[in-house]
Amino acid sequence: MGSENLDSEHAVMGSISLTHTLSSPIPVILAVVAAARCEGNRFHIAGMARIVVIFDFDRTIIDGDSDNWVVTQMSLIQLFHQLLPTMSWNSLMNRMLEELHLQGKTTEDIAQCLKRTPLPPPIISAIKSAFSIGCDLRIVSDANQFFIETILKHHGLLSCFKEIITNPTFIDEEGRLRIIPYHDFRSSPHGCNLCPPNMCKGLIVEQIQASASTDGNKTLIYLGDGKGDYCPSLKLREVDHVMPREKFPLWERIHDNPMLVKAKVHGWSSGEELEMTLLRVISTILANDCNANCDYILTDSSDCKVRYMPPATLESSPQTPPTHH
Ligand SMILES: [Mg+2]
Ligand SMILES: [Zn+2]
Repeated sequence: MGSENLDSEHAVMGSISLTHTLSSPIPVILAVVAAARCEGNRFHIAGMARIVVIFDFDRTIIDGDSDNWVVTQMSLIQLFHQLLPTMSWNSLMNRMLEELHLQGKTTEDIAQCLKRTPLPPPIISAIKSAFSIGCDLRIVSDANQFFIETILKHHGLLSCFKEIITNPTFIDEEGRLRIIPYHDFRSSPHGCNLCPPNMCKGLIVEQIQASASTDGNKTLIYLGDGKGDYCPSLKLREVDHVMPREKFPLWERIHDNPMLVKAKVHGWSSGEELEMTLLRVISTILANDCNANCDYILTDSSDCKVRYMPPATLESSPQTPPTHH
């Protein structure tokens, strides 16, 4: 973030320069960061941590499913399908890791396999941009800690996330990687019939909302694709946003009965669309804040340099993201 281009006539100004070039061929209108307030020599971004962005991981951040990737790439498909009718997914993945250990595969072998899983460059760029803007980024995923952290670290993204809420993992004394269910469904079942026994993402989102509300007024943006992302989508409020991957189960469920979701809905189907849509939603939230609170906002351009623009200009801009319920 830079602090050049200051307008000394207006006390309400700063500038943000996004260092990550958007990979989209379409010039992305990247209206960013309302109200960088000049207080003495320091510039404060009013939007900082005002927005909490919650990402699902599989088929949202990475293009595919990390469990499927390991099972396929490490030749466990046959055993996986043989055991699937008898075990929960989460226990089955733990069993697959046992199998790999029995075959003499190490956690490093698993890590090498995970590093090859495709992660679209625009999604890397979207995460880095949202982080640069000052959003509070979290992951809520039914994958596991080792898979997620290995992949994020490989792409230089791990430090962008404030919290990763997922099934914990550890390496036991024999060097075997083990997965523990996030919710202990035997001693304290979560009781939600929309979600698998080991994880209710709705409950997790409620906890994030509760901590966010003691921390000031926050807006949530939730991105996901699967059935497990429906429960948390139902917990979002009118001021929040949900970004379902189009033609995937979350998107289908929302569109089966749109009235049940209070948040604004923005579909996406490619990494490019995710990036553009997320940054537009963020910019709209911050622009609305700015319209209420300050004289000017900082905005856009296709080269990702942020420049000044009076709020009225953005208000009439055709680039406001389409929202539908
Ligand atoms: Mg998913
Ligand atoms: Zn649930």
